[in-house]
Parts: sequence; structure tokens; C-alpha cells
Amino acid sequence: MIVEQIWTANNWRNFNYLIACPETGAALAIDPLDHDKCLNLAKERGWEITHILNTHEHGDHTGGNREMIAATGAKLLAHENAKDKISGIDIALTAGDIIKVGNTVELETLDTPGHTMAHVCLLSKTDIPALFCGDTLFNAGAGNCHGGGHPFELYMTFTNQLAKLSDDTRIYPGHDYIVNNLEFTLDREPNNPNAKNILAEVEHQDPEHALVTTIGLEKDINTFFRLNNPEVIETLSHNNPNMPKDADPKSVFLALRELRNSW
Ligand SMILES: [Zn+2]
Ligand SMILES: [Zn+2]
Repeated sequence: MIVEQIWTANNWRNFNYLIACPETGAALAIDPLDHDKCLNLAKERGWEITHILNTHEHGDHTGGNREMIAATGAKLLAHENAKDKISGIDIALTAGDIIKVGNTVELETLDTPGHTMAHVCLLSKTDIPALFCGDTLFNAGAGNCHGGGHPFELYMTFTNQLAKLSDDTRIYPGHDYIVNNLEFTLDREPNNPNAKNILAEVEHQDPEHALVTTIGLEKDINTFFRLNNPEVIETLSHNNPNMPKDADPKSVFLALRELRNSW
């Protein structure tokens, strides 16, 4: 499996992706908003885009569909609940569906509600464990819920699905928000040495060559995976005087998500 992370350099800091089969040159484009960049890169590499996946229905993820389909004739895939929100879906996805690209790429569909209620993540099960996670999981952060989502569903997705992935799973999110997110982690947990180290590493990084994290690293630097951490709970209690020292993970997640909205 070949993965190309494409930095759009737009105001929303979107990442687009091409995932290609090295044997056949067939490729899947994920959220190809910058259709020109995606098409040019595929051409440069000699790849044929056979599939387009939208992780969810927001315009900064679907905005390149029309041009991409016109140029390639690729099939459009998205969550079955997105049928009324994204036009022209050819294949409606549900949890467990396998997407095959060429001979060597197999991606499993995860149904990951929270950011919206029609959001999928794709999990590579072949040579490179990798998660293409749209606006559900960001490097060191979590998606917001004010565009049609629900914080409780996002908590369930994090706890029941993302936290259970193998530590070596590479993380490919829909946006580059890592610096802000690490600053939020350090505001919650000023003594987190891993977050400090990674922030120093990425503060001035070129998003064309962004750091690719793993689930194992996310568990160290992403406050939304650190719900039992005493310092996270302690600093939350400054904003929420009713937060007990033994607050349950759900309450901690919901308080963090709420705080992040105004932070
Ligand atoms: Zn979104
Ligand atoms: Zn987005």
C-alpha cells in the first residue's frame, strides 16, 4: 500500500489522501477537495483513481467530488447515512465493509459517529496498519460536534473503537491541527513530557512533510485518550468545580470536548 498525504495549504488546513496499489496503480482518493493536486499527483505517479471516499458530508471533504468524478469516472463511496447529504454515492458503506483497491490494498470500514452521524474511518488491514480518520480523530485531538454530531457518540467511538486499535496503527487525519491540539493537551496536562517533545518537533514543521503519529503515540499526547489521568481530571476541576477526583471517563471526555469548543 502506498499512501500519499496531500497538503492543500488552504485556510481549513485540509489533508487529502491517495492510497495506491503498487502492483496495479489503482488508487483511492480520500476527501479530494483539492482535486487539481490529487489529479496531478496521480498522473505524475501513473496511477488510475478508481474510487473516491468521503469520510463524511462536510463541504471541505466533498467539494472536489464533481471534478474528480468527471476526470476519472471513479466510484464514490460514503456512509450509508450520508445518502441524502452527498449527491451521487455509488457505494453506501456500513461497518465491516471491505474496500479493495487493486490487488494489494484492503481497507475495512469503521462506522465512527460523533463528529457527524454519517462518518466512516478506513482501517488498513494489509501491510501497513493505518487509519484514515477524517474529522473524528486528529493528531493530538478530536473532532468537534457542532456540525451535526454528538459528543457522547464521539466518546463511544474513541473508547470502543479507536482506543482498541493496535499501537502501531498510523494516523492520517483530515486536517493539520497538531500544534493547537498539543497546546490544548499541555494546558490540561502541563507536565506531559511527550506532548512537550512532540510540540518542539512539529512547531515549525512543513505540512508537506507532516509528522505521522500512531495510536500508541496518540495515547501519550492526545488528551481525549487520557481520561483517567489525574492531572487531566485535576485541571478540569478548575473549570468544573463539581468534577470529582474519581470522575468517570465519559464525564471527563464530555467536559474536555466542551472546554475545547471555547478554548
Ligand atoms: Zn467535518
Ligand atoms: Zn473537515
